[in-house]
Formats: sequence, structure tokens, C-alpha cells
Amino acid sequence: MARSTLVLDLDQTLVSVVDHDEETLLQCVTKRPGLDRFLKDMSQVYEIVVFSASGASYVKKIVSSLDPTGEIFSAVFTGSDTDWLSGQRVKDLRKLNRDKIVWIDDNASLYPYNPKNGIQVPPFHGDPNDSILGALTPLLLEVALGQISVENASELFVRARNK
Ligand SMILES: [Mg+2]
Repeated sequence: MARSTLVLDLDQTLVSVVDHDEETLLQCVTKRPGLDRFLKDMSQVYEIVVFSASGASYVKKIVSSLDPTGEIFSAVFTGSDTDWLSGQRVKDLRKLNRDKIVWIDDNASLYPYNPKNGIQVPPFHGDPNDSILGALTPLLLEVALGQISVENASELFVRARNK
């Protein structure tokens, strides 16, 4: 079975970045709790791509700090890879040219072309008790194994959060 591609947003999904300048950027990055484990687990079963709407130099700096050996992410898309649709910035995943895609983002409205291919997560602003990545892991593993659909995983995720 071909691997699915997991498309991950950066800001407020994997990390929270407070005020910074070029030099202090990496000191201002807070990783969502469980991030290293999450990326490691996901990289066993998915091809992982980062798709951020932010500028390339900012994104690439953070990505290389998360993945210094380059084993986790297979591609990185940034602001210049986004498109505009009716005055709104969007991430068009068709340009990735992959069959099976799952996106994880705190903003679902960025995916008008692939609305059902992903899971919207609550935005991360640095809460040390955030447990979203741990909650996503078993669902995404089941999706990767073809045991449930992305839509199903998204429903289960929302339901578990509203309990
Ligand atoms: Mg975001």
C-alpha cells in the first residue's frame, strides 16, 4: 500500500512563536507538547510535508530546528506556494500531486479544494497542558493503515474533544 502524505501546518498547529526578530527566532518557538514524539511516530507511516503560509526563511529555520537531520520532512511549502481564492489565501494541495493526503491545521478554511481531507485542530498558543498531538496519534495511525477514513477520524476527534 502506498504511503499517505501528512500535510502539517506550522504556526499554531505544531508550534507557537511569540514576538521575535531574525536573530532570536529559535528562542521564541514553543513546541506543542508531544511534538517530537508525534513527528517520529508519524514518520513511520506517513510521508510528512510542511505547508505553512508564512515566509520561506522563517519556515525553513523552524523546520530545520525541528528536523535537524532531515529525516522527518520530505518537502516544505511556504507562503509563496499558497494561492488566492476570492480574496482569501488558500493552500491548494492538488499541487502536491499525491493520491492520498491528510492535512492537520488550525484553520480549515485554507483548504477549499480539499475540505474533507483533514482535521482542524484548536490553535496552540503555548499551553503546556495541551494534549492534542497525543489525541491525534492513534487516529492518524488508523487512517494510515486504512482502518478508518480521514472524515471518520475527524468526527471521532471532534467527538472526543466535546465529551
Ligand atoms: Mg496555522
